[in-house]
Amino acid sequence: AQNTIAIVGRPNVGKSTLFNRLVGERKAIMDNESGVTRDRHYGHGNWTGKYFTVIDTGGYVRGSDDIFEGEIRKQVDLAINEADVILFMVDVDAGVTGLDQEFADVLRRSKKPIYIVANKADTHARGHLAGEFYALGFEGEIFPVSSQNGSGTGELLDAVVSHF
Ligand code: GDP
Ligand code: MG
Repeated sequence: AQNTIAIVGRPNVGKSTLFNRLVGERKAIMDNESGVTRDRHYGHGNWTGKYFTVIDTGGYVRGSDDIFEGEIRKQVDLAINEADVILFMVDVDAGVTGLDQEFADVLRRSKKPIYIVANKADTHARGHLAGEFYALGFEGEIFPVSSQNGSGTGELLDAVVSHF
């Protein structure tokens, strides 16, 4: 697929919230009205006129903090195979967790661009907590965002669509 973004990370970091934001207002409203589940796996969006597909990889572990090594591998393999850019989402509220480390270890095998998205940075002060995630050992920039209120998502998208 062309211009495909995958969002990976452990449960409850906010992957589906970012997905809903990236696929845009119109589709989210339509889905609400028809009562269709919001846990879609593929969606489409555009930023500054560049069109892309987004994959929300976490559907099969929804609502649960239990996730097993096989599921991490499955989620990451899907992202590595199908995406052009991978968003590795973590949570500034929680900081670096053991599961984040497990995702990082599998993601390191990818040669595709990976951005760390430090979600739940709802305020400027909480954005400063994002620096902690350099401990995961990735070279690229870390983007503090709030998927809930949208802050930081513009800077993230500028970087992502530079690959398209
Ligand atoms: P997923 O399991 O990774 O798909 O995570 P969800 O998108 O389902 O979000 C998990 C929880 O985190 C929900 O209660 C969201 O409302 C909350 N959440 C998601 N994004 C943010 C954010 O930017 N800030 C805050 N404070 N909460 C968020
Ligand atoms: Mg989800």
